Amino acid sequence: CGVFGVFGYEDAASLTYYGLHTLQHRGEESAGICTSDGHTFRYHRGMGLVKEVFDKDRLASLEGDRAIGHVRYSTSGDSRLANAQPLVFKTRDGDLAVATNGNIVNAPMLRRELEQKGSIFQTTSDTEVIAHLIARSESDFVTAAKDALRQLVGGFAFLILTNDKLLVASDTYGLRPIVMGRLGDAWVFSSESCALDTIGADFVRAVEPGEMLVFDAMGYRSERFAPVAKRALCSMEFIYFSRPDSQLYDVNLHTARKRMGMRLAEEFPVEADLVSGVPDSSISAAIGYAEKAGIPYEMGMIKNKYSGRTFIQPSQELREQGVKMKLSAVRSVVEGKRVVLIDDSIVRGTTSRRIVKMLRDAGAKEVHLRIASPPFKNPCFYGIDTPTSDDLIASTHTVEQICEMTGADSLAFLSQPGMIEAIGGAFTKEASGGLCLACFDKEYPTPIGVSANMTSCG
Ligand code: 5GP
Ligand code: SF4
Ligand code: MG
Repeated sequence: CGVFGVFGYEDAASLTYYGLHTLQHRGEESAGICTSDGHTFRYHRGMGLVKEVFDKDRLASLEGDRAIGHVRYSTSGDSRLANAQPLVFKTRDGDLAVATNGNIVNAPMLRRELEQKGSIFQTTSDTEVIAHLIARSESDFVTAAKDALRQLVGGFAFLILTNDKLLVASDTYGLRPIVMGRLGDAWVFSSESCALDTIGADFVRAVEPGEMLVFDAMGYRSERFAPVAKRALCSMEFIYFSRPDSQLYDVNLHTARKRMGMRLAEEFPVEADLVSGVPDSSISAAIGYAEKAGIPYEMGMIKNKYSGRTFIQPSQELREQGVKMKLSAVRSVVEGKRVVLIDDSIVRGTTSRRIVKMLRDAGAKEVHLRIASPPFKNPCFYGIDTPTSDDLIASTHTVEQICEMTGADSLAFLSQPGMIEAIGGAFTKEASGGLCLACFDKEYPTPIGVSANMTSCG
């Protein structure tokens, strides 16, 4: 999912709209904005893309100089309006709205405890847990929020709005990214820095693991709700999620992906006539591979720009259909050629199976698949839609078997050390690179649980 927030800008809803539109790649299922003018909450949520959910009149009705917004992709297929965010509540101390990116691992347990104490949940979203924890507390709002955040296990970035305050928080491992920026006198927050660029805001810094920022009429202060844990930023952000023009700490995403491609070319060279990437997320890596290998980069595949991200469709049938509608091979480029095809990752194997066949049908003589990340073997508990190992082709099959299943002439994955080095920057300096790599090496940074019957937001 993607979150975006504004504090202290006259038309906060419009700014949030542009921010969310820029974060659209993080979730295409639903979108929502909640604003406040300091007294009254106004909000709207709907299923679909940001530009489908909001029009000019709707935005104009969302008055206020502060806002939080959300684009959603659900991680358990529970796709419905009730779970669209921001979630908005009336508490005895006033209005409260919450937008999250991530997953609270212990949400089912916390929810059971809250229900035993009398809380009535309106959604199946794990995000609702934090609202109930805050609402039940006897303490003032900031203390209550800190206490609530301290109880959560998982990977999450939160934006929490009340009539007089905006809170921004990151889990203690910094699993999910969130950055702050400045636009004139206003503050803005975004899952990715690319949305700051869109609205012309200056990047200030990333919200630190375990940090809670409190904005109100007095300005802002930074508090800690938990001691600094070891940073473990999701490595899939580097591989797939974030936009190439975003910056995670000191690393630009395009540049990092290009280095991953270069490293892949060093680790697994192959004789070929051209290199192609699977658009859009693999283009940077393909450019890097081509450059390093000295093989021309070509547009062997194109993507229908009107189709969204197929992976984040909630069912396998929709995903298969999605790939067919999304990608096409360019016959005049690949016919009779030995093609190196770069993809950023293989998860279920839906994409690779189809694209190898597409290239062959278009006349490619050889297809060598090169994946710019290690085999994705373990489920994510922090908001990415891979609930069980059975869904993960690399968990149940060897590289040779996957190669055979996809019909490629050869297949290779970037090594984990190669990937960490390629990401580079601040991330190579810490022991594990400051990254979560659990889907590759099973080293989960937090205790993990089974979040049965609840939805979250990647
Ligand atoms: P598969 O088709 O093997 O299930 O998924 C891999 C493809 O989906 C790649 O082309 C990758 O770009 C894309 N993708 C979309 N969403 C995700 C995600 O959440 N995780 C990963 N690893 N890949 C994703
Ligand atoms: Fe990201 Fe993988 Fe860690 Fe999940 S398990 S947070 S996808 S690196
Ligand atoms: Mg892809």
